[in-house]
Amino acid sequence: MQICPKATRHIILVLLGLLAGMAGPAHAETLPNLTKVIEHLAPPPSRQALDRIPDLPRRMLALRSYLRSGSRLPENWSWDETQIAAFQETPAHKALMAEIEAIGAHFAAANPGFGLYVNPKVRSLDVQIDAWNANSTVGKSASELMEDFLLAFGKDGAYPPAIETEAFSAWLRRSMPKTRSPLAAPGISAHGRASAIDFQVAQEGRVIAPADTSKIDSLWKKDGWDEKLKESISAAGPSFTGPLTSPSEPWHYDYRPAGGLPELKPAEPGPAVSD
Ligand SMILES: [Zn+2]
Repeated sequence: MQICPKATRHIILVLLGLLAGMAGPAHAETLPNLTKVIEHLAPPPSRQALDRIPDLPRRMLALRSYLRSGSRLPENWSWDETQIAAFQETPAHKALMAEIEAIGAHFAAANPGFGLYVNPKVRSLDVQIDAWNANSTVGKSASELMEDFLLAFGKDGAYPPAIETEAFSAWLRRSMPKTRSPLAAPGISAHGRASAIDFQVAQEGRVIAPADTSKIDSLWKKDGWDEKLKESISAAGPSFTGPLTSPSEPWHYDYRPAGGLPELKPAEPGPAVSD
């Protein structure tokens, strides 16, 4: 990773901050509004996504995930369209498709009349951002987070005139909205790097057990599709592990082939450090 002059300046500022911290009380920075604080705290390359989330509560909810990802954020960041296109041409893609096909064949043989429906396309950052901006449960979770924010930082129920960044960052990392987001924040979905696949159950070309959290009890568990899918994955999908349990998604399996996934060059130069 190359260090640009801005990053060097940032490191110097951090070092100065540490020295100041040793000499006296820690330097506490306050910023005039939430938009500024979010921009200030956004770890690279998350501004690529945050700048395209117009709704402030949803933006704050995404930042929460980025901060909690810590140093793993750049290495887990979603592929761009160039990388996705390059992946389609690799032997690794062929291996993924072969394994999905084998799982599908096992499932169809074990459950006559039923099959699996899979969208194997890697979910680009654009697609993830659109879903994040539109999903109503993400909106609910984000509204709860905003309410918690106003309780923690508001002055007499009103919006705070200034926000102390360190306190806000610490609060946001440990905040836990009652409603859980059903989507990973844009950029960090395992679907964005061919590292996860959703398997849905179909009958006569129609999905009858979809990737929908409201259908887990009424369909996936009641009809035993969770167990039936797991059996086929165990039998024919050696590179898949799962399903996802937190949150519960009986259709979501992680994909970790023994040889790893290829390193693919992004179209744009690496993530820039931004203020
Ligand atoms: Zn999934």
